[in-house]
Order: sequence, then structure tokens, then C-alpha cells
Amino acid sequence: GRQAGARTWTKEDVKRTFPVRQPFSHKGTNGKGFLIGGGTEMPGSVTMASMAALRAGAGLLTVGTLPQVIPSVLSHLAEATFTSLAGENGVLVDTENLDVSAYDAVVAGMGMGRGEDTAALTKRVLEQAEVPVLLDADGLYHIKSDLELLRNRQAPTILTPHPGEMAMLLDVKVPQLLEQPFELARKFATVYQVYLVLKGTYTIVTAPDGTQLVNTTGNPGLGKGGSGDVLSGILLAMLMQHEDPLEAIANGVYVHGRAADVLVEDAHSQQDLLATDLMKGLAKVFRDIS
Ligand code: AMP
Ligand code: MG
Repeated sequence: GRQAGARTWTKEDVKRTFPVRQPFSHKGTNGKGFLIGGGTEMPGSVTMASMAALRAGAGLLTVGTLPQVIPSVLSHLAEATFTSLAGENGVLVDTENLDVSAYDAVVAGMGMGRGEDTAALTKRVLEQAEVPVLLDADGLYHIKSDLELLRNRQAPTILTPHPGEMAMLLDVKVPQLLEQPFELARKFATVYQVYLVLKGTYTIVTAPDGTQLVNTTGNPGLGKGGSGDVLSGILLAMLMQHEDPLEAIANGVYVHGRAADVLVEDAHSQQDLLATDLMKGLAKVFRDIS
């Protein structure tokens, strides 16, 4: 059940906390994001996250991926820049040459695969980056064996598990997690000092201090591959445009669900909606907020 103290993040909260894009802002001040992910078998994940980050207002976006994945991302968006990362057998692997110092926020995990050598790259990101780092998808698996890494970070860490990934991190079965999602999420977020986004029909956002916010936007049209990748991209952009990480995350989760809602009210249905359609929904959502 819903734990006492958890509060719904409303449209009014979004309007109150959403940053105004300043007249004298430019690509340098709107945030330079770094998105690390993709592999030869999952190039779409990083593509969708990249599109979403740019559509959600990121000033500049660099995609760190395998050289052979770059053309597929580029075919969907011309606005991203790239840095080729080391790979083996179609997946990213650890490299000493990784440089995360030039960015305002980093996302890693999507489409990376779960191998040890890939996990080492994710851990390097966590150790090196002095800016917010969001881990999703395979990135969550990579840190399972080394959760202490999370506690050692100074800058915010954001984890975005769906219930299966959360259960994996907690070593419980999904039904056990869903019996007390608020309690288990709060315990994990406070112990490991992370912002935890437990995704679902009602996504629960927990801050490292235990504050919990519940999102009520979104619909079953989001129950398709790619929805989570779009959320990660939106959150990357939001983290770079807000002062407060909790407000950034709550607003990003709200906007993601709201994009799906406006699309099924009009041009789409829950049945046909695709993750890439969400990018079109963002226009109306952002116009309504400002
Ligand atoms: P993932 O499982 O990583 O692709 O993430 C799925 C995304 O879609 C999350 O943001 C979920 O909250 C959202 N989502 C999936 N199904 C629903 C639903 N029935 N209602 C609202 N949001 C949903
Ligand atoms: Mg996912």
C-alpha cells in the first residue's frame, strides 16, 4: 500500500518548479549531456534516449557508443555528436581513455549487455563523473555486485529500475517487491544514497533523504520496448536544466507519462503508441507547462 508521507506530484508542482528557458541561454548553458550505451544488437535504445534528451531541451548531446552503432543513431537524429568507445564482440568494454569531465550529466546502461568487461565501464563512469549519473537497464545489472560504489559518490546518482530490475537489485521476487514498493524503495534509496525511480503504472520517486513522490501520468500505451529509454533521455535533459535533482526527476517522469497521455487522447491509441512517438507528444506537454 501507499506509505504515509508519499505525495503525488501534480501538474501544479510541475508548473511551479519547471525552469524557464532564459532569453540569453544558449547551447552551452542548457546542458551538455553524455549518453553511454548501445551495442550491435540494441542500437535503438541509445537512439531513443538521445532523441528524447534533445527533445527535452538538452543543449548539446554526445553519444558514447561503438563505432558501428553511430550510423544507426545518426540516421534518426543529426543533432547528436559522438565519441567512439572501445568494443569487443559487439558490446562496449572498459577503457582507460574514457573522459567524462566535459559533461553536465551522464546516462549509462541502455543496450550495453551484461558482461563483466562492460560492467567495468559502468563502474568507471560512476567513479570518474563528478556530475549526476543516471543508470538504467543493463547499467543496473552492472552495479549489482558493487552497490557500495553508489555510496561513495559525491554527485547525485539516479537509478531507474522497472520492477524486475528493482527486484534483482534487492534480491527479492517481483511479487514481494510489489507488496511493499514504498518501503523497499525508501530503504534502498536511503541506504545507498541514490535517487531511485521505481517505474510502473504509478512511478515512485525516492530521494536519498527518503522523500517520496508518486507520479500519476502515463498509460498502458507505454507498455512497449523503448519507453524506459525515452524516460532516461528526458531525465538526462531535466537534470541539466534544474537546480534540484528531485524536482528534475519528478518533472521528467511527469512529462514522459503526460506525453503518452496527450498522444492517446488525439493522434494515437494505447494499442499503436510507440516509444518514438513520445517525442512528438513532448511538444504539447512542454507548451502546456510554460
Ligand atoms: P521500461 O520497462 O524500462 O521500458 O520502462 C517503461 C516505462 O513506461 C516506465 O516509465 C513505466 O512507468 C512506463 N509504463 C509502462 N507501463 C505503464 C502503465 N501501464 N501505465 C503507466 N506507465 C507505464
Ligand atoms: Mg528499461
